[in-house]
Amino acid sequence: MAADRKPHWLRIKLRQGHNLEYVKETLASLDLNTVCVEANCPNKIECFSKKTATFMILGRECTRNCSFCNVSHGVLQQVDVNEPVNVAEATIKLGLKHVVITSVTRDDLPDGGAAHFAEVIKEIKNRDEKIIVEVLIPDFQGSEAALAKVVAERPHIINHNIETVPRLYNEVRPMAGYRQSLELLKNVKKIDNEIITKSGIMLGLGETEAEVEEVMADLRSVGCDLLTIGQYLAPSKAHYPIKEYITPEAFEEYRIKGLDLGFKFVASSPLVRSSYHAAEMYEADNRE
Ligand code: SF4
Ligand code: SF4
Repeated sequence: MAADRKPHWLRIKLRQGHNLEYVKETLASLDLNTVCVEANCPNKIECFSKKTATFMILGRECTRNCSFCNVSHGVLQQVDVNEPVNVAEATIKLGLKHVVITSVTRDDLPDGGAAHFAEVIKEIKNRDEKIIVEVLIPDFQGSEAALAKVVAERPHIINHNIETVPRLYNEVRPMAGYRQSLELLKNVKKIDNEIITKSGIMLGLGETEAEVEEVMADLRSVGCDLLTIGQYLAPSKAHYPIKEYITPEAFEEYRIKGLDLGFKFVASSPLVRSSYHAAEMYEADNRE
C-alpha cells in the first residue's frame, strides 16, 4: 500500500493508566530511561501490564546517525556507574518478569559499553535469577572481545537488529555493516551455543519481498533463533520517509515463511517492535 495515508490498522489510541504513572515515577526516581516511555511506544500499556519493559542504558545521546531513528546526537554523557544497580532496583520494584536492556551506540567508549551491559545483567541476576534477561546490543564495531564480555554473563537472549536489507544500509544505517551484524549473531553462538539469539527487521523502507526473504535466510544461516518484523514509522518528516505500508496479510505471510525457514518464533505484524511479546517469544523457544 502506498505511503500517503496511515492505514486503519496503525491508527490506535494510546490509553493512560495509573500503572503507567507508577512506572514513570519509578524510572524518574532512579534516573533511568526506557524506550517504552521515551519513544512513546504504542505497546507500552500492554507490555507494562505483562511485566515487560525495555531499559535504555549508556545515556540518551548516540554516536551514530541512522536515518530512521529518533535518538539524539548531542553531547555524550558520562557512563553512570550507578545505572546497573538502579536498573536492577527498578526491575524488582516494577515486578518485571522479563526485562529487556538496550542502549544507544557508544563508539566513543573503548569497549562500546560492553562491560556496562555485563554489569547490568549481573546486578539483575544477583537480585533474582528467575528474571529473564534479554539484551538488545549494538554491534560493538565488530569487536569479539567486547561481545564476549556480555556473553560471559549469560543473558537468556542476545538480540541484535539487522534492521533492513543490505541494499539500503548506506541510506538507513550508514555507520553499520550488514555482514558485521550477521557476524555478531554468529559469534554469540560460537562463544556460547546455549544463548538464544534474536534479530529484527523493519518493513516499508523500500525493500522488496525477495530481499526480505534473503535477509531471513541469512539470519538463519548464522543460527538466529527468533525474529521480529514490524512496520517502519518515520519519527518526523526529517527522518527517512516511509515508502510503503505493508498489509497485515503480507506480515502474516512473512511470519509463515520465517517459520518454514526454521526460526523458532516469528513475531510479524505492523506494530511489532524488537521487544514486543518478548516473553512469549522466549517461552515459545523453551517449549522446544
Ligand atoms: Fe517497551 Fe518494547 Fe513493549 Fe514498546 S514493545 S512498550 S519498547 S517493551
Ligand atoms: Fe538509533 Fe541505534 Fe542508530 Fe543510534 S545506532 S542512531 S540508537 S538505531
